[in-house]
Amino acid sequence: MAERTRAARKAPKFVKPATREIVRARVLATARISPTFVRVTIGGDAVSTIGPMGFDHWFRMFFPVPGRRGFTLPSATDDRWWPEYQVIPDDERPVLRNYTFRRFRAAGAGSYGDTAEIDIDFASHGDLGPASAWANTVSAGEEIGVLDEGIGYV
Ligand SMILES: Cc1cc2nc3c(=O)[nH]c(=O)nc-3n(C[C@H](O)[C@H](O)[C@H](O)COP(=O)(O)OP(=O)(O)OC[C@H]3O[C@@H](n4cnc5c(N)ncnc54)[C@H](O)[C@@H]3O)c2cc1C
Repeated sequence: MAERTRAARKAPKFVKPATREIVRARVLATARISPTFVRVTIGGDAVSTIGPMGFDHWFRMFFPVPGRRGFTLPSATDDRWWPEYQVIPDDERPVLRNYTFRRFRAAGAGSYGDTAEIDIDFASHGDLGPASAWANTVSAGEEIGVLDEGIGYV
């Protein structure tokens, strides 16, 4: 029993995806699903490279500073993306926040086109933070960056 408890304690908490690369995605649709939640659906060819991992699957989202169009994304496919991000000039550096995949639809099974689709539910708190402001005003066609982080807590 003690052995099993010790083994359980040592089990890794994280499950990372097999490959990690920041990919570009597009907003396909938005919907206010309650007074305090906005659902943003993203898709695109590169989104099809992300495999659903189940409950608590999360990702890092890169998006433009509200009111500004366009941004530069890090290109490293390992942990060097972070120092690369930090040295992007202020006027090109996207905002970075973490989100949970609410729902996946595989390519061909989407609601808005042929590519894979991902729903993200944003807690909406007005203009208090850049992500909330972005989710409240974003429209279809806007580009974001996505870095799949896998599962944070097994
Ligand atoms: C692993 C992980 C997964 C996450 N998944 C989701 C997700 O699926 N959906 C989601 O909405 N968020 C999620 N978050 C939180 C998300 O990363 C941001 O912190 C959140 O969207 C707020 O970002 P912001 O830029 O709007 O505000 P920030 O700039 O972070 O905060 C500015 C101010 O806004 C206010 N504020 C921030 N959040 C809230 C809130 N929820 N309600 C009321 N006021 C608030 C506070 O006053 C805060 O000081 C997740 C975080 C982690 C670590």
